[in-house]
Amino acid sequence: MAHGEFAIIERFFIRQPIVHPATEIGIGDDCAVLHLPKSSRIALTTDTLVSEVHFLPDVDPRRLGHKSLAVNLSDLAAMGAAPRWALLSLTLPEVDANWLESFATGFFRLAERYRVQLIGGDTTRGPLSVTVQALGVLASAQPMRRFGARPGEGIYVTGYLGSAGLGLKIRLGEFVCPDPEPIDRLEVPEPRVGFGAALSRFASACIDISDGLAADLGHILRDSGVGAEVHWEQLPLSPAVRHYVEISGDVELPLTAGDDYELCFTMARQHEESLRQAVGGGVPFTRIGSVEARPGLRLSRAGKCEDFPMRGYDHFGPQP
Ligand code: ADP
Ligand code: MG
Repeated sequence: MAHGEFAIIERFFIRQPIVHPATEIGIGDDCAVLHLPKSSRIALTTDTLVSEVHFLPDVDPRRLGHKSLAVNLSDLAAMGAAPRWALLSLTLPEVDANWLESFATGFFRLAERYRVQLIGGDTTRGPLSVTVQALGVLASAQPMRRFGARPGEGIYVTGYLGSAGLGLKIRLGEFVCPDPEPIDRLEVPEPRVGFGAALSRFASACIDISDGLAADLGHILRDSGVGAEVHWEQLPLSPAVRHYVEISGDVELPLTAGDDYELCFTMARQHEESLRQAVGGGVPFTRIGSVEARPGLRLSRAGKCEDFPMRGYDHFGPQP
């Protein structure tokens, strides 16, 4: 079936009723318009996923729809913002109705779960890429920032580390593993939205892990003017990642692989119990080390403590 640009938008992307009263104009005009209550503060973010850079061209489009929104909701979560609106810019090599239907299903399933309203976007022809903007409302007086970590505080992460990185290795045929967990983490990451909102009362600094723990924790440490010691034995690893590390000896994967979209934060240890109660046990979090006054990242493992580079995936850095 032939589809013009607006027919695609109508068929696949105009699906939601207005869910937030502040949405004055949604999809269909030159701009969306929001009418915000006076004191509200909006957090805005955008992320692009490019075929063959961020995802394999044969990825399940439903999973791609989910992930393109999820990575943006993860950024909002990292600052403690509650998601409300999104814009979606799609560049497509061709109009494939089945592909678009699946993509939209994945996108809107996640959007519905967090009551995110799609209010606009753009649709163009070209090499496949997906850009999403997300807007959220800051709940607490202070958004969580990348600075604010203080010596003596604990360093924490949600969920598991390195799973998405292992998923990529499995997808590329570099490792064989029957457990679907790593590929699920790579392709259907769960943004820590509720956790981020609850966390903002307790954390001194927070970031979401998109480029690997060492790089992203590195941002917190540099921006806070502090350093850290991280204990390898305390890193939360899924059974699949544990098995991979045992077989390969690749102890760096959990520290350097990107795409996990877990939160990494610093917090005074006395808040651990209150945070556990506030988040209600749904999302586990683990203390992996402590903030120190001396700059730099140190990794202790098997009784030895060594400097560890605060590097991860960098599109314009040296390629591995
Ligand atoms: P313009 O040419 O003025 O930028 P478009 O014709 O590109 O407008 O888009 C028409 C309307 O559809 C706009 O409201 C735009 O925000 C929306 N839109 C376009 N593409 C998408 C998309 N992929 N998802 C959601 N809304 C979209
Ligand atoms: Mg346009």
